[in-house]
Amino acid sequence: MKKISWVLLMFVLVIAMVGCSNSTGGEDGGDKKTVGIAMPTKSSERWVKDGENMKKEFENLGYTVDLQYAEDVVENQLSQIENMITKGVDILVIASIDGEALTDVLEQAKNQDIPVIAYDRLIMNSDHVSYYATFDNFQVGVLQGEYIEEKLGLKEGKGPFNIELFAGSPDDNNAYFFWDGAMSILQPYIDEGKLVVQSGQTSFEQGATLRWDGSKAQERMDNLLSAHYSSENIDVVYSPFDGISRGVISSLKAVGYGSDNKPMPIVTGQDAELSSIKSIIAGEQTQTIFKDTRELAKQAVNMADSVLKGEEPEVNDTETYDNGEKVVPSYLLAPISVDIDNYKEVLVDTDYYTEDQLK
Ligand code: BGC
Repeated sequence: MKKISWVLLMFVLVIAMVGCSNSTGGEDGGDKKTVGIAMPTKSSERWVKDGENMKKEFENLGYTVDLQYAEDVVENQLSQIENMITKGVDILVIASIDGEALTDVLEQAKNQDIPVIAYDRLIMNSDHVSYYATFDNFQVGVLQGEYIEEKLGLKEGKGPFNIELFAGSPDDNNAYFFWDGAMSILQPYIDEGKLVVQSGQTSFEQGATLRWDGSKAQERMDNLLSAHYSSENIDVVYSPFDGISRGVISSLKAVGYGSDNKPMPIVTGQDAELSSIKSIIAGEQTQTIFKDTRELAKQAVNMADSVLKGEEPEVNDTETYDNGEKVVPSYLLAPISVDIDNYKEVLVDTDYYTEDQLK
């Protein structure tokens, strides 16, 4: 009797031990791989959606996710990434605040063999950026420029029109691509005198908006309007981002634009943020660029998953994105121009927003 109970006890113990080792080391147990996601800020909707979408996709594949936002403070982002490295994440996905500020922290990641995927914004001056998932950033600018060209009838020789130019954050590599894309369309009209920049501020540096800050853009627009548009009306504002566009629009409204004798100028934008789509519906902002963050998230997640499995991720551009140390293999998605005529088809029919959200 005693012997039998000993045997039984041993049997139960062995089963328990096997069970235990399975739950800490098995495929579906506690050895889940962890992804560290560093996002720039929650102050712009797009990054919130990007983060949520990636978290969902990674979790669907069985990963654990450490998602952090740095509220546009470079030092916050650096310490968040350092913490992730210390905790031993298996891979990092980073949308940088300042693309040139991560060289040292990426060196730490390299020393720990933690691969890095640059998300939407290229990380500069590091050879430790494995892949880059983004949109065709030059094309974003081209679409914005072409929109202005078409709406004004510039190809048909119409003009001259008054325009002012805003650029994105000088520490974000994307900002130069948007600007260069837009100027590839607009510059010839400026040279020809069909587009007139009354302020004379035609360089990227003069138009730049640090950290894409809408209130800084509003301040600059206030100054431009008071200094150069007391006797002239402005016809177009080239803005690369919805947050900047909304700052510009507040400034325009404050001096009476948006009324019958002073119509709102054409104002471009980017990201199809909810408040900007509402603004388009209200007849204030004119255009935006839709970048489907659901698709970008999927792409980045597939990249990370392949890297972790030792496979080659899918890329479609191996030439454009030189970060100063290497050309980073990239996957570029296609941006879409949106205005009052197609927002329903592009955003509502695809469930990006519901009709109710837009009310
Ligand atoms: C992104 C844009 C965004 C901007 C401001 C850029 O890096 O590509 O989609 O409008 O940052 O957040």
